Amino acid sequence: MKNITILGVTGSIGQQTVDVCLHHQDEFNVVAMSAGKNIVLLETTIQKINPQVVCVIDEKDCNYLQEKYPHIRFVFGSAGLDEIATIDQVDIVLNAIVGFAGLLPTIHAIESKKDIALANKETLVTAGHLIIPMAKEYGVSILPVDSEHSAIFQSLQGEPKAALDKILLTASGGPFRGKSAEFLETVTLEAALNHPNWSMGPKITIDSSTMVNKGLEVMEAKWLFGVDYSQIEVVIQPQSIIHSMVQYVDGAIIAQLGTPDMCLPIQYALCYPQRRERIGKPLDFKTISSITFEQPDMETFRGLKLAYETGKIGGSLPTVFNAANERSVALFLQKKISYLTMADIIEEACQEHQVIKNPSLDEILAVEQEVYQKIDQKF
Ligand code: NDP
Repeated sequence: MKNITILGVTGSIGQQTVDVCLHHQDEFNVVAMSAGKNIVLLETTIQKINPQVVCVIDEKDCNYLQEKYPHIRFVFGSAGLDEIATIDQVDIVLNAIVGFAGLLPTIHAIESKKDIALANKETLVTAGHLIIPMAKEYGVSILPVDSEHSAIFQSLQGEPKAALDKILLTASGGPFRGKSAEFLETVTLEAALNHPNWSMGPKITIDSSTMVNKGLEVMEAKWLFGVDYSQIEVVIQPQSIIHSMVQYVDGAIIAQLGTPDMCLPIQYALCYPQRRERIGKPLDFKTISSITFEQPDMETFRGLKLAYETGKIGGSLPTVFNAANERSVALFLQKKISYLTMADIIEEACQEHQVIKNPSLDEILAVEQEVYQKIDQKF
């Protein structure tokens, strides 16, 4: 039996993790969970799972819940997140918080020797240079939850690291694949939220449409798999059947295929190195007419090109890229800026920044705040 903390339980990944845990109740025991502000969904989830400790953002939500469920311990804020990320009996922390808020709980969980099932992208994008050595030092595993990184991880099993030639990171291309820059000028929020293959939270859905999500994944892959940027190639695979591939030095390419369903990568991360029976339907080749490939259009989807440039420069620049993207997506979701302004904001923030080469955690946190403040002053 594995004891689990789920961070971000009210999100898209968090709820699918609940499904996985309920499906394999003989294997997983959810000890603790965190939510943000969606208290209605949190209550439904508490009734399904009956955890021991629950964290929310606001103290007033915490007090309300504590009165209603006296047998459960409720905590709040960043201290609460730290508490549930470091509970003694917990074996693995699944981090599905969206955004930069996921960084500190990951660090505290590693320091408490918990394995990490990592969905939160921002952790490695901003602090991969700190997290990977820290995980080694504390002897914990960072297990990818993102479908692409899980596919790469699965395709690397049992092969010598030295034989890896490159990673072929697949992308659906999002709802605007093949469209021109002129077309993107007219994109509405509703159109950007309509992903052709995947059902995800709003932030990552917008990131997928701009291909910034793929850029964040490129930076994440660099840290997770210890490769150079020249060894990561993005390939458009519009049907989202091949979740990613690795190419070995002898030219052999190994891929992981499946339906576009996050339950498999979530389950693989939680069960690793075992495999358990699936939830949902497997891929049925009789229903697939084609699997096609394209090159990404990095001129129209500037975010991906900028992510490669940012990652190669490294240091504090990925934090700027990530923070500027987070704010610009929030502004677009509030309909305060146009679709293409998001890439302008990221580019401008990166250009203005004086790169710190090997930033400490405090420097990363300070850079993040500085970027947020500059953008907030303008919009
Ligand atoms: P959602 O927006 O659906 O959920 C985010 C979760 O984080 C919710 O539980 C939310 O709480 C909580 N949360 C938001 N802000 C804070 C905060 N400041 N402090 C604490 N908790 C907070 O996101 P997704 O599930 O789509 O994505 C989660 C992460 O996983 C992201 O980093 C994303 O890039 C990554 N990912 C997602 C995939 C997907 O298929 N969705 C695939 C691969 C990676 P509440 O809603 O209660 O306010």
